[in-house]
Amino acid sequence: MRYCDLHTHSTASDGTTPPAELPALARRAGLSAVALTDHDTTAGLVQCAHACEEQGVQFVPGIEVSADPGPAPPPPETAEDDVAHDAEQRRGTLHILGLFIRHDDSQIAQVEHRMRDARDSRNPAIVDKLNELGVDISYDDVLDLARRQGSAIVGRPHIAQVMLDRGHVATLREAFERYIGQNGIAYVRRDRLPARDAISAIHHAGGLAIMAHPIQTGLSDPGQLEQLVVQLKNLGLNGIETRHSDHSPHLAEQYELIASQLNMLTSGGSDFHGDRKDVVLGGQRVPLEVYERLHNAWQKRDT
Ligand code: AMP
Ligand code: ZN
Ligand code: FE
Ligand code: FE
Repeated sequence: MRYCDLHTHSTASDGTTPPAELPALARRAGLSAVALTDHDTTAGLVQCAHACEEQGVQFVPGIEVSADPGPAPPPPETAEDDVAHDAEQRRGTLHILGLFIRHDDSQIAQVEHRMRDARDSRNPAIVDKLNELGVDISYDDVLDLARRQGSAIVGRPHIAQVMLDRGHVATLREAFERYIGQNGIAYVRRDRLPARDAISAIHHAGGLAIMAHPIQTGLSDPGQLEQLVVQLKNLGLNGIETRHSDHSPHLAEQYELIASQLNMLTSGGSDFHGDRKDVVLGGQRVPLEVYERLHNAWQKRDT
């Protein structure tokens, strides 16, 4: 059996593996194809592509864009004023993977620019809040860490790492749960890209747009999730990531069903982040056919 992993991160965003080293790890993990899908950046793609060639691993140039799903669908039969707001909160996060993208596309470059601005204006606000709470770290340390790692984006994982290095938390998980995660006391929301813009930039770059880890939308009711998927399909979404390290086999099956009912593609990957997450490259054992189906669909696209 041959396998692929279509969701990974490198030091270009918040992973700990340099993009040029990922392909050797992929080969050792027995993978025939691997996608690099760094958060809001294509900075690692050229290096990773070269190394994939050397290792004889098929490469899928990708990106993972943090998007805003747009207005929540009307909640089922309740008249409370704040229900719409709650629904929005419960929706969690929406990440859209672009697979088979051109790394130097102009609209993707605009997306990268917008998202960098969004993080750059939010990050110091998080550090300010942390300082007020007595967590004494400086934003220069965060920037310094990101620079040393060669990251093209600076995000919360870098802030968490500095908190850990300085002994303010015992684990990265604690940094997120207590402080900078969505329910943390130093959380600051950043601007996200409207899903419509994310999907159209991915298409402009010749890629396929795939909803990443549907579980993270927070929509546990399959009907509600399907409603969001339909909404995004109308904007051009091509498929759903059914296998992911956060999905139980039961959930993966549920997502496969939604995809097949809506006649959409499926993808799968580990969401490998190097040492930064407890996730093994290739750990999802995604059959290579998943890659082949996506590759065929991509070749047939009329863009
Ligand atoms: P940012 O895009 O800068 O807001 O950072 C988001 C990234 O932080 C995500 O892509 C994850 O890699 C990481 N992250 C978010 N929440 C958590 C969490 N609860 N535990 C660990 N990592 C997290
Ligand atoms: Zn990440
Ligand atoms: Fe994600
Ligand atoms: Fe990811």
